[in-house]
Amino acid sequence: MRLLAPTPGWSMKCDVVVVGSGVAGLTTALQIRSHNLSVVLVTKANIDEGSTRWAQGGIAAALGPGDSPQDHKEDTLTAGAGLCDPSAVEVLVSEGPEAVRRLIARGAVFDKSDTGEIALTREGGHLRNRILHAGGDATGLEVSRALLAAVRDDNGIEVIEHALVLDALLSEEGEIAGVTLHVIGEGSRDGVGQIESGAVVIATGGLGQVFAQTTNPSVSTGDGVALALRAGARVADVEFIQFHPTVLFLGEGSKGQQPLISEAVRGEGAFLVNHKNERFMSGAHPLKDLAPRDVVAKEIERQMRQHGIDHVFLDARGIQGFAERFPTINQSCLEHGIDPTKDLIPVAPASHYASGGIRVNLNGRSTVPGLYACGETACTGAHGANRLASNSLLEGLVFGARIAFDIALSLKKDKKIASDRRRPILVDPSARRKIQEVMSREAGVVRSRESLTRAKEELHKLRDLRSKDPHTASWETTNLLLLAEAIVSAALMREESRGSHWREDFPASDDAWLVRIEEWLIDGELHSRLAPLSITEGLEWRW
Ligand SMILES: Cc1cc2nc3c(=O)[nH]c(=O)nc-3n(C[C@H](O)[C@H](O)[C@H](O)COP(=O)(O)OP(=O)(O)OC[C@H]3O[C@@H](n4cnc5c(N)ncnc54)[C@H](O)[C@@H]3O)c2cc1C
Repeated sequence: MRLLAPTPGWSMKCDVVVVGSGVAGLTTALQIRSHNLSVVLVTKANIDEGSTRWAQGGIAAALGPGDSPQDHKEDTLTAGAGLCDPSAVEVLVSEGPEAVRRLIARGAVFDKSDTGEIALTREGGHLRNRILHAGGDATGLEVSRALLAAVRDDNGIEVIEHALVLDALLSEEGEIAGVTLHVIGEGSRDGVGQIESGAVVIATGGLGQVFAQTTNPSVSTGDGVALALRAGARVADVEFIQFHPTVLFLGEGSKGQQPLISEAVRGEGAFLVNHKNERFMSGAHPLKDLAPRDVVAKEIERQMRQHGIDHVFLDARGIQGFAERFPTINQSCLEHGIDPTKDLIPVAPASHYASGGIRVNLNGRSTVPGLYACGETACTGAHGANRLASNSLLEGLVFGARIAFDIALSLKKDKKIASDRRRPILVDPSARRKIQEVMSREAGVVRSRESLTRAKEELHKLRDLRSKDPHTASWETTNLLLLAEAIVSAALMREESRGSHWREDFPASDDAWLVRIEEWLIDGELHSRLAPLSITEGLEWRW
């Protein structure tokens, strides 16, 4: 399958195309440049759009006294609930400190303590203070600022904004040889075109827009994962969608991106209460309000069901200097008529992070030669069933560098583009709202065979809403539908509860499910298999 789109009307060439300008794409592009290869960085909207700039809490790295990569690894494995690939976690935590130092050398400025050291705080699931933050709660903005400045300074990176990547180009040997894209531009590069390249790095971020309420921005429609599926790659762990427990509750029926109340607020002493002002996390987990995210989200969901309420509250009134420590959160609360120093903050869970994605090895290689994936769009196995807070910015920094190194060693140039015989598809944009409602209602925090079967049937019917009008909305909707079907299919298959996947009909974890569910497309239909947790560098990675 491929997206229905006009034949490319313009063409260009480079060594590597990087798709996406978040922490993963920017880091990968800069690292590739250190190997002297030419890069075209394409991004769907303005260059600073994506989840990265919204990241509040920070970046986790074992930099503090008494901390170690080993301790960071243990906390990551615990949060991942048995499904992490220990070798991917090892890479993340041991190469993390160096990757953060590289980011600082590129100009990122983190908050300091009174003694002038980088201030380290704690978030849910971390047993040590190891979270670097910037501008109080504006870490992502600073990371993005520093990386964007470095990219702008590099003449070897050509940036194309408002460029929505549609599909991969295939070579006559069946390798990835570039991308097709639609540019809202001017002059010769306007409309649908193609970029031929030796390698393509997908760094398109998350897929939160599959759900009705999400912390993710509007660009997070999972385009890269859908592209990879259509190109023949495998995806894994897509059933593990992290629902952030504390998202500002904006009232019944609110849709799209919702403001996040970072875990760091609980790290600084805030706690959850229900409508009767009872602290319900105290008896729920030894870490109480700082339990891993899935535990907190489930407990909130339990409270909401038990008492027939649609939100709970965060009590942050005891935090001294709230407005200085959390300026962004303070501002978004004030904009909604809540003063966190005086009022309880209404919160409810919303879709936040995709732990799964394009299955890659430790060098970011997908199962299709020439196609790499980095950041939230990839499944390295480092997050398992549930990502540990603040490990995702880190993942982009660490694996971006590894991908660049792998490309430098193995890049094949001048591939011959094959003619594309794939069947074109396009779904009408009117399906988008329906997909989101179905997914939030039937495949959200709590799932069951009944709810997932309903979702599967309703999504299947939406396939019939065909469109002949290729444009951003129909391309994104087509991607969202494919991803929703992949999530539901894996969630139905996994008959247990683990990490961020909670089946009320199978409430316990089951060791028989210590496997990954991989999915791929053949003739437009999803196929799946149970795969081992670790990639032992099988044949599919040797390209
Ligand atoms: C509100 C919020 C708070 C968070 N807080 C933290 C935190 O404190 N710490 C932490 O570690 N993580 C946090 N996360 C998660 C983290 O921000 C993301 O996982 C991470 O930034 C993802 O980076 P990325 O580069 O993979 O994707 P993104 O930053 O989302 O970038 C994706 C890029 O791909 C582009 N793109 C998408 N589709 C296409 C297409 N078809 N063609 C071309 N370009 C495309 C987008 O425009 C964008 O530039 C938070 C996330 C959110 C939403």
